[in-house]
Amino acid sequence: MRLIVQKYGGTSVGNPERIRNVAARLIETQREGCRVVAVISAMAGETDQLIKLAHDVSPSPTKRELDILLATGENAASALTAMAVNALGAKAISVTGAQAGILTDRVHTKAKIANISAKQIQALLAEDYIVIVAGFQGQTPEGETTTLGRGGSDLSAIALAGVLNADACQIFTDVDGVFTCDPRIVSDAKKLDEVSYDELLEMAGAGSKVMQSRAVEFAKKFGVDFEVRSSLNLNAGTLAKEETASMEDVVIRGISVDRNQAKLTVDDVRDEPGIAGRIFSVIADGNIIVDMIVQSVSEHGTTDISFTIHENDLAAAQELLAPVVKETKAAGLIAKSGVAKLSVVGIGMRSHSGVASRMFQCLGKAGINIHLISTSEIKIAVVIEETDVERAAQLIHEEFGLASLAPMVSSVRPLA
Ligand code: ADP
Ligand code: ASP
Ligand code: MG
Repeated sequence: MRLIVQKYGGTSVGNPERIRNVAARLIETQREGCRVVAVISAMAGETDQLIKLAHDVSPSPTKRELDILLATGENAASALTAMAVNALGAKAISVTGAQAGILTDRVHTKAKIANISAKQIQALLAEDYIVIVAGFQGQTPEGETTTLGRGGSDLSAIALAGVLNADACQIFTDVDGVFTCDPRIVSDAKKLDEVSYDELLEMAGAGSKVMQSRAVEFAKKFGVDFEVRSSLNLNAGTLAKEETASMEDVVIRGISVDRNQAKLTVDDVRDEPGIAGRIFSVIADGNIIVDMIVQSVSEHGTTDISFTIHENDLAAAQELLAPVVKETKAAGLIAKSGVAKLSVVGIGMRSHSGVASRMFQCLGKAGINIHLISTSEIKIAVVIEETDVERAAQLIHEEFGLASLAPMVSSVRPLA
């Protein structure tokens, strides 16, 4: 019998009617002759609400308690979904991450899955239950509750699909699949039929929150193919899988936008071995994630080092760096908030040139200034003013013809 893992995100279980809709879909899948494991997220807005509550009672909530609190969102949604299935006359049982055998490390609020012992799930499936797993959570070897980072139900689903050797893994959400850009930003964004793990990984890392990047990383590592599709209709979604030769024909697969970024520049710092190490070790010790890093040309023995972080980390980073700026006799620390990152992604860039020039010209013509640039083999990213980012995404989407059926572009040259 086929085994299928289906994940339903927060909006898909956002109210009782949506939960009943999910229940009906689960039953339908079982009636088609599948064994069904469902991974359920907290109801839309619930995790944000719980985080807000935590901050209302404490300026810096204890991470252990935060995990216990946040896990309740998924516990509630999975129990409600099981009730809805049972009410429709089928047989479902909800389990927590711990009961599902999801073992993690001890890093509260962003734990990594260490192992999954799927015996309990297998036993329940053998008794014909639709097994409904609370997403986003696991437990440490000591039995402490952990959560897997924001968007972590995606990871629960992919990891369970991998361990159970599922025949299919479907990620149900509130859009029809992975689009060339967030359809809420670019209205004529086009749904992709397929996307490679690497492209989706870059897109997710660059701010497209349709899939959690750690989930995609896991899928790539363990070769778990999955489909992203809508829980609100029956349309086929986007297939995420290892790249195939024909995928390289598409130069740009998508555009991602990451808002709420901040740029920090250590100005006129001595251009000597060890200085960059000193700056970034302080930032790393503060558990602040650094994204782009650019060091400018050395002049008269000094240089500027700029990098981006999430805007929420700006105050902490400034505080951490103040003594380093003093100690290294840099001219100062320049902070800029209100910036955003825009990235174009596509494995076809490996074999085609001219993408960067065309992207920069497009921004230049629109009078949009670029603060920082970074590239990888399959991505070009720029930091620009946040107020420009939606317009920039729309213009670049149009420039590269991403809304049309054949997004190959004449002025992007194949590499010899
Ligand atoms: P879920 O609650 O189902 O996990 P999320 O809100 O995490 O759903 O992710 C779905 C959202 O991701 C969509 O509503 C869409 O606005 C956003 N998104 C961002 N980039 C993209 C993209 N390239 N393709 C599709 N959706 C995207
Ligand atoms: N509920 C969690 C979050 O909002 C996990 C998820 O939705 O995947 O981040
Ligand atoms: Mg999500």
